[in-house]
Amino acid sequence: PRLYVAADLAAGVRLPLDRAQANYLLNVLRRGPDDPVLVFNGRDGEWRAHLAQTGRKGADLHVAAQTRPQPAPADIHYLFAPLKSARLDYLAQKAVEMGAGTIRPVITRYTQGDRINMDRLRANTIEAAEQCGILAIPDCPEPERLPKILTELAPERLLVFCDEDASVRDPVRALAAAADPQAPPPLAVLVGPEGGFSAEERALIRARPNTVALSLGPRILRADTAAVAVLTLVQAVLGD
Ligand code: SAM
Repeated sequence: PRLYVAADLAAGVRLPLDRAQANYLLNVLRRGPDDPVLVFNGRDGEWRAHLAQTGRKGADLHVAAQTRPQPAPADIHYLFAPLKSARLDYLAQKAVEMGAGTIRPVITRYTQGDRINMDRLRANTIEAAEQCGILAIPDCPEPERLPKILTELAPERLLVFCDEDASVRDPVRALAAAADPQAPPPLAVLVGPEGGFSAEERALIRARPNTVALSLGPRILRADTAAVAVLTLVQAVLGD
């Protein structure tokens, strides 16, 4: 098992587990004293720890040795218009599994409700990081309006704009032409809300230099499907 912990990690550190973590290890996974558990905190790499039961329901982890150093964070920003909560959970998990290092809600004209539970979003990204074996905890900056996000993006960051109206019908070739697969640039991927982008928003996005508008095929995808499709495309063309 791999667990995210907030504490600093070093050999000899003792980590008291909260009730849910102790229950998960002792009762769900049926781990016992001295069983190894991997831990990470998003900063100090991955460490092997050993389980020690404390009392009837509690448990500690004793951190022993580092198993992997902390790698550089993935440099893909996933920019999305908020969806209803169950689909948002799915989207956050899949974006992390597919390599996004920053997950940021974008408020657009047709976004349905601009209130978003950022704690839930962050909890989902941590759970996804635990399960898929990465060591970084994705960054989840606060939601921001589309025009501001566009001005805040660094000019060298290639913006991959998922646009169902894009005339580009070969997204693989378009992406490979916009970014050198041997030396991929920092990326941002942008997917719109269920209502799509307005004409003004489309014009604004397309006017940004270093932007490639891609069609993901002739069918209109749900925003959560588009998330997985575009990140798969990015991975296939530009590597992990
Ligand atoms: N415009 C549609 C509508 O009237 O409801 C649907 C928008 S779609 C559900 C949500 C987002 O997914 C779009 O803004 C776009 O970013 C992305 N998307 C969906 N299908 C796509 C496709 N075939 N190619 C590129 N992007 C697509």
